Amino acid sequence: MTQQLGRLTVRLRIAVIQLNPQIGQVSGTTARVNALLSRIEKYKPDIVVFPEFALSGYNFHCRQQIGPYLSTVGQGPEWDLCHQISRQLSCVTVMGYPEKSDDGSTGQKVYNSVMVVNSKGELAFNYRKSFLYQTDDEWGCSENPAGFQTFRLPFAQKARDSSGGLHDVSIKSAVGICMDLSPYKFEAPFQDFEFSSFHLENATELILFPMAWLNSISVTANTENPKRREKQIAESLEAIRFPMSGSQGEFQWDVSLLDGTRVEEKPGHNFLGPSHENSDDTATDTFANPGQPDMSNLNYWILRFMPFLAYGGRGSWFMEGLLDPILSKLRGLRFSYMGGSSEKPWLFENRNAVAVLCNRCGVEDGSTVFAGTSSILKFNGQHGDTENNLDTSNSSVELVGNLSKGYEGVLIRDVEFEIDR
Ligand code: GLN
Repeated sequence: MTQQLGRLTVRLRIAVIQLNPQIGQVSGTTARVNALLSRIEKYKPDIVVFPEFALSGYNFHCRQQIGPYLSTVGQGPEWDLCHQISRQLSCVTVMGYPEKSDDGSTGQKVYNSVMVVNSKGELAFNYRKSFLYQTDDEWGCSENPAGFQTFRLPFAQKARDSSGGLHDVSIKSAVGICMDLSPYKFEAPFQDFEFSSFHLENATELILFPMAWLNSISVTANTENPKRREKQIAESLEAIRFPMSGSQGEFQWDVSLLDGTRVEEKPGHNFLGPSHENSDDTATDTFANPGQPDMSNLNYWILRFMPFLAYGGRGSWFMEGLLDPILSKLRGLRFSYMGGSSEKPWLFENRNAVAVLCNRCGVEDGSTVFAGTSSILKFNGQHGDTENNLDTSNSSVELVGNLSKGYEGVLIRDVEFEIDR
């Protein structure tokens, strides 16, 4: 039997790289990343996270178009870059890429995937997106046959016990890719919280989330007048003097470390935007203030982690047995609902988890505007009785750091969290 160590504190230095990769510009995007590396290296991050489809661009419309960008695991420009970064920085590197599988018997399948490369430059895990977005369907993407998954990720950093003893640990980790956080096909009931319930039940400690998440001004399947919306997008970009594909190469730097190191560099004449004070960033007809985060998106992401959030109402659900009929219907599939179980009002109470949401920015096709706002969140498992707001104001979620919505950027933070071993 292995010895019980109890509560351990882990400190990870996390780097998030927000990019605006355009289709057909793999070498240009790679070059921009390479230009950042020596400066990122100085901070010795334990893990570097990139967006969904970080080098290829996202909006592919058919299989033929995505063809040249598909790679098998362990090959291709994304693999080369991750391998190089992991070796050079002795860190874990996480990056989204379009995958073609070489499992011959079933025919070639294509996936929206994320590679996790360990600090020796070896593949630690390959995750395939489980919940697909309409755009993924356009090029024939397959769903992850394994569904949501967890894996053990070793880090060089040792964990500390309460008397200062140091221990080698691997962190129970998972990858999610963008739409994985949404209700399945936007059709499942909102309160199912499929992704976050799965990781609540599996006691996942570190959630790595590459994204290509859309700002609400984007033209989607539900947009009533796409032409008019495209015109609004073009006008919005012109108003902030951005090219049609959005900003590239002007990097925001936001570094804040526990040793006191602070770096804040805000690029561009309009980092704060022309009318920062009274703009309405939630309106769907403008895209202003590219230097600001998109708080409505960030709040939506936080809401989708509802099972990890303190929520006062769970106490009475538990006392009155309100979840029991739902849980008995779900028996065999799940044992929690909205974070509550029949054993415990809030399963997450006294646990910690860290989520690294690495989104892209920029514009594709003149119609898809990405939301940037890459963020690191820590769920602290406290305040279970008092909270009711499922957004940034909820004291059970700490916004460790975030980037702007419209600029490429680098966010580096030390995050301390507790695990039980
Ligand atoms: N739910 C996401 C959105 O609306 C899906 C996008 C994606 O999977 N890339 O932006």
